[in-house]
Amino acid sequence: MKTAQIVATSCNRRELELEQMRNFLRCNGFAVSVFEWSIDESADLIFLSTCGFTRAAEDFGFETLHRINREKKPSAKVILCGCIPEINPARTAAEFEGDTFSPQSYYRLDDLVAAERPFGTFKRPNILGSDGSVLDMPGLKDDLKKGVQLIQAFDGSFSGLQNLVRRLGNGLTRRTIRRKFANIDSNTTFYIQIQEGCSMECSYCSIKTAIGKLRSKPIESILDDFRNGIERGYKNFQLVGDNAGSYGLDIKTHLGRLLTRISEIKGDFKLDLTDINPAYLHLILDPALELASEGRISRLYVPIQSGSSRILKLMKRGCDVEAVKVALGRIKDSIPNGVDFKLGTSVIVGFPTETDEELRQTIEFCQDVKFDWVWCHSFSVRPETPAAKMGGQLGADEILGRANILKKELSVRTLVTTAEDTAGSRTCQG
Ligand code: SF4
Repeated sequence: MKTAQIVATSCNRRELELEQMRNFLRCNGFAVSVFEWSIDESADLIFLSTCGFTRAAEDFGFETLHRINREKKPSAKVILCGCIPEINPARTAAEFEGDTFSPQSYYRLDDLVAAERPFGTFKRPNILGSDGSVLDMPGLKDDLKKGVQLIQAFDGSFSGLQNLVRRLGNGLTRRTIRRKFANIDSNTTFYIQIQEGCSMECSYCSIKTAIGKLRSKPIESILDDFRNGIERGYKNFQLVGDNAGSYGLDIKTHLGRLLTRISEIKGDFKLDLTDINPAYLHLILDPALELASEGRISRLYVPIQSGSSRILKLMKRGCDVEAVKVALGRIKDSIPNGVDFKLGTSVIVGFPTETDEELRQTIEFCQDVKFDWVWCHSFSVRPETPAAKMGGQLGADEILGRANILKKELSVRTLVTTAEDTAGSRTCQG
């Protein structure tokens, strides 16, 4: 039996697809490696799922690719997937020779592995493989064992030490952070993919070239999945999407209507609302307030990206910062005492022409809303985006300095994670 390994530097939005791919591979005669990070020397086929939201994420994907090429057995074939092949085809062609596919072209797998059962016949799963305990994460023990082997093989050189720290640190950091923040920490969560793709045109973003236009699942199909989860005893539900807030706009409905229908379902459950673009917050406000007041929202993630109205306009985010602040305040205020609720956001610092005062506005926005966690991305130029052509680009040191200022000022009460903390691994936060 051939062995396939999946190594992921991509964001949590790709996790359900990767789980679907594992099922597909198993049913088409592959053993799927338990290693998630260390390279499995027995693997015949290695898939690398990548992220290209920032330059740091892209670099990390290519570093991982080169590590795989160094460590795999010579006959193993590597396939590059995730967002990078579409976002940066020029670099992909320059640094990789082999097959690629994107989040929109999983069907290519059928030919790539000569599948008897096509990828499209596998349902997008609702459950991820983990069973809740950090040490029991699939493959973690094996990766740790491999880590011990690496330490034993350490040759005492400075470059060897750097390599060791990087490999162990990156793998474990990204695992822990990805699961912690993506809520991928136990099989008690029931995931429902509600949409794919994106309808927006944010000026800094090139993800949409990889994920394509908005494609929403019909409400009734989502509700069927939801009821199925309730019947199976699940209590935590996450609605998954590349831009979940835009759900339904392509099929003449919206996320607020979906939430209203979900709120009518009887059962003891909590909702994890993630990737709610602030431009669409008004669409969910009424049902979100009702669900929040019933203690049925456990987590809300609204990526604001900047606290400055001028920068938000340049970013083409289509939202009013003051209206977002008021809406988030109302939702927080409606959570009953004693109910565990976490509110998060992401910001991009160092967008072209951002002034010190505008950075201050972003910091103050986060302080005023009192987020529990903030992802801080350092702006980086992405291929073929309007922001790449804007004047007023800030230098790398200036941008890093801004990320450090934001982190220092917010860390008093908020968990702030920067690209440096995650080694560029989990950075796609539209
Ligand atoms: S940043 Fe997010 S919302 Fe904006 S275009 Fe990219 S994927 Fe869509």
